[in-house]
Amino acid sequence: MNANFLQTPIAYLKGVGPNRANSLQSELGISTFQDLLNLFPNRYIDKTKYYKISQLQRSSADVQVLGKIIHLKTVDQKKGKRLVATFKDDTGEIELVWFRGQKWIKENIKINVPYVIFGKCNWYAGKFSMPHPEMELLSEHEKGTKIAMQPVYPSTERLSNSGISNRVINKLIQQLFLECKGQFSESLSPSLIHSLQLISKPDALFNIHFPKNQELLAKAQFRLKFEELFYIQMQLLAKKMLRKQKIKGYCFDQVGTLFNAFYNNHLPFNLTNAQKRVIKEIRSDVGSHAQMNRLLQGDVGSGKTIVAVMVMLLAIDNDFQACLMAPTEILANQHYNGIQELLEPLGIKIAILTGSVKKARRTIIHEQLESGELHILIGTHALLEDKVKYKNLGLAIIDEQHRFGVAQRSKLWHKNDIPPHILVMTATPIPRTLAMSLYGDLDISVIDELPPGRKPIKTVHRYDANRLKVFRFIKDEINLGRQVYVVYPLIQESEVLDYKDLMDGYESIARDFPAPKYQISIVHGQMKPADKDYEMARFVKGETQIMVATTVIEVGVNVPNASVMIIESSERFGLSQLHQLRGRVGRGAEQSYCILMSGHKLSAEGKTRLETMVATNDGFQIAEVDLKLRGPGDIMGTQQSGILNLKIADIVKDNDILKTARYYAIELLKDDPSLEKVDNLIIRHFYAQIVKHKNIWNYIS
Ligand code: ADP
Ligand code: MG
Repeated sequence: MNANFLQTPIAYLKGVGPNRANSLQSELGISTFQDLLNLFPNRYIDKTKYYKISQLQRSSADVQVLGKIIHLKTVDQKKGKRLVATFKDDTGEIELVWFRGQKWIKENIKINVPYVIFGKCNWYAGKFSMPHPEMELLSEHEKGTKIAMQPVYPSTERLSNSGISNRVINKLIQQLFLECKGQFSESLSPSLIHSLQLISKPDALFNIHFPKNQELLAKAQFRLKFEELFYIQMQLLAKKMLRKQKIKGYCFDQVGTLFNAFYNNHLPFNLTNAQKRVIKEIRSDVGSHAQMNRLLQGDVGSGKTIVAVMVMLLAIDNDFQACLMAPTEILANQHYNGIQELLEPLGIKIAILTGSVKKARRTIIHEQLESGELHILIGTHALLEDKVKYKNLGLAIIDEQHRFGVAQRSKLWHKNDIPPHILVMTATPIPRTLAMSLYGDLDISVIDELPPGRKPIKTVHRYDANRLKVFRFIKDEINLGRQVYVVYPLIQESEVLDYKDLMDGYESIARDFPAPKYQISIVHGQMKPADKDYEMARFVKGETQIMVATTVIEVGVNVPNASVMIIESSERFGLSQLHQLRGRVGRGAEQSYCILMSGHKLSAEGKTRLETMVATNDGFQIAEVDLKLRGPGDIMGTQQSGILNLKIADIVKDNDILKTARYYAIELLKDDPSLEKVDNLIIRHFYAQIVKHKNIWNYIS
């Protein structure tokens, strides 16, 4: 079937018309024949099974029952009326209920004649009732063709209210197959079909909508999921290829004085093997003539900063400037202070630019950037302002990139004609599956090793009732010379309450840990940046032993002497946040602890989160659990990526198919990068069709 036919507006399908077309478009985004064909069922119902009324359970989903209507009446309710029928088989009775279309039902329904009914049963006021059942006379039902597995299509309430029930959709798809005579064109190459033993496209489409049996359904699902994921991978990989070939990058071919001087004389510790490997990977990127676009993943505390520093030195050695963008002022300041200290002996000029830098100072920074006097600029979002212009920005590093959107990344990119090399660093491990789909077009480096001498953090879960014991433990640690974080949630909707919790908590700690023996810092979002910095600095210098804070300290803050992290109301935090917070301790040589406080009431999910935290320190493992709990929709970065709009595949459940798809896409592009071989023409053709509809090229920039 040619592609044009499938582009026919849906209104032209027999049985649709303008009104239904509007509903289909607005509710399901279906505007063409093709769209309807690609509306895949969510699930299938076994229609060979009949329930007896006595077998119905409160949890029964969709059920099919054979029986008769013995009574029909109209019942007044607050708004309007409802029509209620008593439906009976030889084991009991249920009610059928209609709120709409009552007139038609009343006129057409037959009393005491066998019907096959189908629908969702509710348990209400001591009996079962089925609203708006699908009904068919048994005599008719026996004549019709039997579908063993009835597909259930995605729907919305508005759609079913406007008369487009699952059955109607089913009929429309039947009509579509009739008009197409089932002749859909193949979209994968003969060799892929052969190596993976896939069923043909027409067979797959037929069996996904009208499964002949379980086995064919499974094959149809595999084939269509594979195809969907395969073409996403093709797009990502093609994009990466294009970038490597077409986008020129600056070449840092000198490994010069600064890099070597630092490496030989100023490195405060030996690099881990993982750090060395990553620096090598980056060096090979920036030393080629292509633009680097690399994601550096490394768990909290794995030592990403020093990698960033060394890559910046490479840039400066090659007469380029570098910038480092962090998501919060605290973090930007910390980077600035730390890096300043490291690079001071080398005479490198560094400035910090954040929202709270005064105008006069800003102007100076702008000038020094443009003249090239400044080598490194560190800061927050303020770096993205139009006024910030560089003489020759060769490298942009983004820390904790999951907090920035794609748009922000691309803004850095567009600051020059030739884009700078881009390194994004994240401590939120992204599960491999997700990384493949989200960042399949980036190169990825992983620091999978912590600096030596670190002891794994001991994590425990304690109920609020045990707070006194926890306080005693804190005292012991402080007496050993360590420092302690106490973190409170601050979540927008309940900001006032949370703020009160924080203040109450602070006061109770202040009572138990009185001055002058104990000194306490407090940091929260409602403080002025200068005050935050002051309090933070006191804690960093060890002048205070306890830091009471909201999640502002979540990312990046580095105080190696802090050995205890207490997280209050920990059940309210997400997994990745808990992991980030825990990462604030365990940075020195001492044994560190994370204590998750919670009330006794925990949701099942909350419990799983806390158990996961207690069970493992491995960020990747935690990220996998997180992905399973929340689905990809809530994970940063997915929103822009289109992987949430998958038609049939599921990024979490279809992990293996995804890997297979990526593997075959890579092999294919290796063998035939421009898809010229006869065998691949189908792919090339189909690819062109999809890409025309989806603007994939602005995926990154
Ligand atoms: P993150 O990856 O979370 O950004 P940092 O770069 O802040 O981690 O490093 C965490 C701590 O580990 C810092 O105190 C840093 O100085 C230290 N560190 C980093 N690399 C090493 C190493 N190879 N050996 C010893 N300590 C290291
Ligand atoms: Mg960091």
